[in-house]
Amino acid sequence: MKRQILLTPGPTPLPAEVREALARPIIHHRTTVYQEIFKEVVEALKEVFQTRNDLFIFTSSGTGAMEASIVNFLSPEDKVVVIVSGKFGERFGEICSAYGLNTILLPVTWGEACPPEALSGVLKQSKDVKAVYATLCETSTGVCHDIQRLTQVSHDHGAILVVDAISGLAADPLLTDSWGVDIVVSGSQKALMLPPGLSFISVNAKAWEMAKGARLPKFYFDLLKAKKAWQKFDSPFTPAIPLVVALRETLKRIHKKGMEKIWKECAQLAESTRKSVTRLGLSLFAKAPSNALTAVLVPQGIDGKQLVRTLREKYGIWVAEGQGELAGKIFRIAHMGYIQKKEIDLCLSVLEKEIAYETVGQ
Ligand SMILES: *Cc1c(COP(=O)(O)O)cnc(C)c1O
Repeated sequence: MKRQILLTPGPTPLPAEVREALARPIIHHRTTVYQEIFKEVVEALKEVFQTRNDLFIFTSSGTGAMEASIVNFLSPEDKVVVIVSGKFGERFGEICSAYGLNTILLPVTWGEACPPEALSGVLKQSKDVKAVYATLCETSTGVCHDIQRLTQVSHDHGAILVVDAISGLAADPLLTDSWGVDIVVSGSQKALMLPPGLSFISVNAKAWEMAKGARLPKFYFDLLKAKKAWQKFDSPFTPAIPLVVALRETLKRIHKKGMEKIWKECAQLAESTRKSVTRLGLSLFAKAPSNALTAVLVPQGIDGKQLVRTLREKYGIWVAEGQGELAGKIFRIAHMGYIQKKEIDLCLSVLEKEIAYETVGQ
């Protein structure tokens, strides 16, 4: 297989110890060996989430935990506000609608972060909103949201705040407990340096109170089942054993460095990427950029889709295209998790050359 340099915002590259862990013989999950790993992993994940709240692992892609953050806490026709500043905010809205919730969308211009005042405006107008759904890093635009302020505003109006931190976790600072974020969801294939297949959710006491009366239908993503199984360090259904074993390896790596340093290094790589992009004469798309990825506007006279294809086919460098209304208009370079500066630098020098080649003589 041709060598690939993966700079996409999920999946991201795997460190060697993760690949080694995934290649080991499988163990059975109803054993003390597995239970010890499971316990260790959940505790270590709490450090990454910056929480002491209950935390659960599902076998699913990130969207599974998004669905869990809805079905476990609400009843049909409950009123929710969903901040939509890109593709993943849209997804929260779609899940809420699919379950028959009274869903108020708060649209934000793509590329911008939701102003906390816009949220308080909506919450003032619509009484009895039970929950606000927000995104830490909106991966489709590269924007990072001010989750601390959005949480305050939600609480001021009696709503809980749920955050999709699937790409933002371990890239953008998220202080779950000190900011009082009620529910946080994430996934394995972004900054946690694992293959896709695990999703995570943390739940605080206030959210558990809501869970008691929640009547939306649920089965696989029922958190009460997960909570009961956890008493025996078990899961309600067969866990993705190799992924959990591999997760222990990445969590060791993260713990060794510490969250402060993880965020700092990611911020530095993000900053240097943005600087280099600007130096090439390209424009940044996100007004409030995330540490996880950089969204770049496709310059005039360049076919954005073709540019992404050229990087892939000619060099094996994988950046991501624009999604939805941004298809062909931006491309996205991830710099979270195990992605290295030298890979970004190589990508940028190839970009410089390809863009120069396309535009020379125009
Ligand atoms: C990747 C991602 C998701 C989840 O997508 P899955 O394909 O279900 O893993 C959700 N939200 C954000 C912000 C993401 O970056």
